[in-house]
Amino acid sequence: MKHAIHIVLLILTIFILSGCSQKPYQSTEQIMGTIVSQSIYGRDAQAAGIEASGKIRELESVLSFHLKTGDIAKLNSNAGIEDVPVRKETLFLLEKSLHYSEITGGSFNILVGPLVKRWNVTAADADVPSPAEIRKLLPLIHYKDLIVNETKGTARLLKKGQMADLGGIAKGYASDEVLAIYRKHGIQKAIIDIGGNIGLLGSSPEGKPWRVGVQSPGKERGEYAAILSLTDCSLSTSGAYERFFKKNGKIYHHIIDPATGYPADSGLLSASIIAPMSVDSDALSKIFVMGADRGIALIKNIPDTGAVLITRDKRIIVTENLKSRFELTDKEFRVEFR
Ligand code: AMP
Ligand code: MG
Repeated sequence: MKHAIHIVLLILTIFILSGCSQKPYQSTEQIMGTIVSQSIYGRDAQAAGIEASGKIRELESVLSFHLKTGDIAKLNSNAGIEDVPVRKETLFLLEKSLHYSEITGGSFNILVGPLVKRWNVTAADADVPSPAEIRKLLPLIHYKDLIVNETKGTARLLKKGQMADLGGIAKGYASDEVLAIYRKHGIQKAIIDIGGNIGLLGSSPEGKPWRVGVQSPGKERGEYAAILSLTDCSLSTSGAYERFFKKNGKIYHHIIDPATGYPADSGLLSASIIAPMSVDSDALSKIFVMGADRGIALIKNIPDTGAVLITRDKRIIVTENLKSRFELTDKEFRVEFR
């Protein structure tokens, strides 16, 4: 009898444990001006999730260009005045941003801030700047005017009015930091999504790759143009449909072409990048500005990195290295592997 009870208890424990590990801890919050959702599997999932939310909030306060207190706010308010001491994390991100500004030929531009601020596409009273206003701002966005001194731990903007904006890279960085927190808690399976910067830890609970959708531009959220089967990597998407306002029937979105000062008009509706780290995929998703040909050429030169680009003329251009992981779900599109 006693033996039988032991067996029942043992079976119950196994049942409860496996039940626990299959049911994720889930949360959805608004942080960094976007939706943050977490799905975490494992014993310590809740503690990991709570710590992760705290970390994202902390990064927002340090890195935001809108909040007055953090490193970027201090850097921007001292533009043309003096060096500003900043945290190690900020230095790392500024250096990374300079690297991506360089290798994208300025399509990703860390000093795009003055234009982003003027366009302010999410404001209720957003309007189209005059060509004269744009012309006045363009001389402020030369990314080489950001000077980072790693030994001194400082950064500086050379001209008054210049503004660094980490909006195109910080969410990716935050998603990498979140995965590090999950790992520290012994988590082996999890998904973090910070406004389209998706970090994937391990594989799905069924032991298969995670299936991640690529949004069909212009359709209901959650309607996918394609599905990617991915493990242990990051996927970041920049899309014209994410944030925009409409004026006289024309869409003005949040990804600015630093060459013109206007929202990028490269024939792409979205650019999704797969890379080992989200800080990289986030920055690289700004190949949105470069368009398909130049964008794909750049991505093909970066190891372990792939792209899925959706064009206005209904094509999906996918790098060859993603062929076995790509599945078309919206038949309106034609697929081209390159
Ligand atoms: P994402 O959310 O990753 O699509 O990045 C868009 C955000 O990056 C914008 O809201 C701006 O803050 C910033 N941004 C806009 N245009 C650029 C650009 N050309 N280079 C770097 N950052 C940009
Ligand atoms: Mg992004």
